[in-house]
Amino acid sequence: MAAIEMRNIVKEYGDGFKAVNDVSLDIADGEFMILVGPSGCGKSTLLRMIVGLEDITSGDMLIGGDRVNEKAPRDRNLSMVFQNYALYPHLTVFENIAFPLRLNKKIKEEEIQTRVRDAASMLELDEHLDRKPANLSGGQRQRVAMGRAIVRRVNAFLFDEPLSNLDAKLRGQMRTEISRMQRRLGTTTVYVTHDQTEAMTLGDRVAVLRRGLLQQVASPRELYEQP
Ligand code: ADP
Ligand code: ADP
Repeated sequence: MAAIEMRNIVKEYGDGFKAVNDVSLDIADGEFMILVGPSGCGKSTLLRMIVGLEDITSGDMLIGGDRVNEKAPRDRNLSMVFQNYALYPHLTVFENIAFPLRLNKKIKEEEIQTRVRDAASMLELDEHLDRKPANLSGGQRQRVAMGRAIVRRVNAFLFDEPLSNLDAKLRGQMRTEISRMQRRLGTTTVYVTHDQTEAMTLGDRVAVLRRGLLQQVASPRELYEQP
């Protein structure tokens, strides 16, 4: 069974314009799926329909085999990382990452400690757990936002161009960390990017969108190393 299954998904806006036009795509359990395509092709809209931030005009969205078309975002058990993220300035790095766990009263303090330290270690934040966001670099802040997303046990991680505001060197480092983290956790991931290097190094498969249509689904090698 696919972790995420899209069946003939359409998103039509008021004027009849189809931002997403009959997209069917299965994402396997544990798979790292990249969504690419020119600006305006429907990547964000598709991601937002998976998360539940955007209504689906027609078609079915299944997560773990359950139809979620009418489910609220909080009931889909997904974690999304945005390009622009907000940290709580008055909380330490530790508490920022722990935040989503503290909302669930059933998770014990010991478990919170373990999970936060584990996430921080994967993101090289071990040394900074007691700091406040104001005392961190931009890259460290982005890592904290990512830590907050990966600390929960979820059906999937969804990333909307999470590295696009970082400089090239930092992007390279973060790419490696995201890759390591995803393989370690084995969590199904859908990742929107403009960046071919990200698509090649991170993706198990790459889905190419164009004007709302799914044009091709291929491995990075098939897609970028064709003669
Ligand atoms: P991408 O993420 O690939 O850049 P989007 O999913 O943001 O593309 O947008 C896909 C298309 O849908 C674009 O042409 C965009 O202008 C249009 N669009 C997005 N949101 C709306 C909206 N609320 N109303 C009308 N058109 C929209
Ligand atoms: P991105 O390029 O990062 O995908 P956009 O700048 O296209 O984002 O869109 C930002 C916001 O504006 C989104 O909430 C989107 O739904 C909305 N939007 C985009 N295009 C249109 C449009 N043609 N009409 C109305 N709203 C739109």
